[in-house]
Amino acid sequence: MRTILRRCSKCHTVKKLKFFPIKVIGTGRTGYCLKCQKAARSRYFKKYKKSLDRVYGRNAVKYLRDSAKLRKIKFSLNHNMLKKWWESTPDVCYYCGFDIHKYRRLRNKILAHTANNRGINKFKNILMLDSVDRMTIDRKSSNCGYKIENIVKCCWICNCVKGTFLSSADMKKVAPGIMKRLISRLGGIY
Ligand SMILES: [Zn+2]
Ligand SMILES: [Zn+2]
Repeated sequence: MRTILRRCSKCHTVKKLKFFPIKVIGTGRTGYCLKCQKAARSRYFKKYKKSLDRVYGRNAVKYLRDSAKLRKIKFSLNHNMLKKWWESTPDVCYYCGFDIHKYRRLRNKILAHTANNRGINKFKNILMLDSVDRMTIDRKSSNCGYKIENIVKCCWICNCVKGTFLSSADMKKVAPGIMKRLISRLGGIY
């Protein structure tokens, strides 16, 4: 069997295809090798201390504002608004309906998965880069900025699947099915 090789578009090293993570959205594999992706991630998290970008935390507002500015997204939250919202919103994914405990069980089962199943491994790859432990913040409408009416809590898996490609209504429709298939591939999560 011929070994398929690819050149990493970051470090320019030629490596076997298996060192390039499968894309979560779309088909094929990423252009950066896993090592470069991990390095980029850790630089990023060092800068923002843990994954405060997607969770409510001390620097969350600053991070969200900076990243909104970069992407030219309107930002109208302050620390107290976000804190109040985060604390009064149940830790339940708006899309798949999983609570934080069920999300963690699923995440742990994915991370413990060792067989070569593409449908599971694309999620394992993103969780290996960052095994997010809390609910994340998503904007329901990508055309609309960061304001209380436009943000929801969602699990990291749904956040990655949705990206900026799916509308919130579409994601809400497909998320339960995606989770059901994933859990059945894993042979259950209990
Ligand atoms: Zn590389
Ligand atoms: Zn979810």
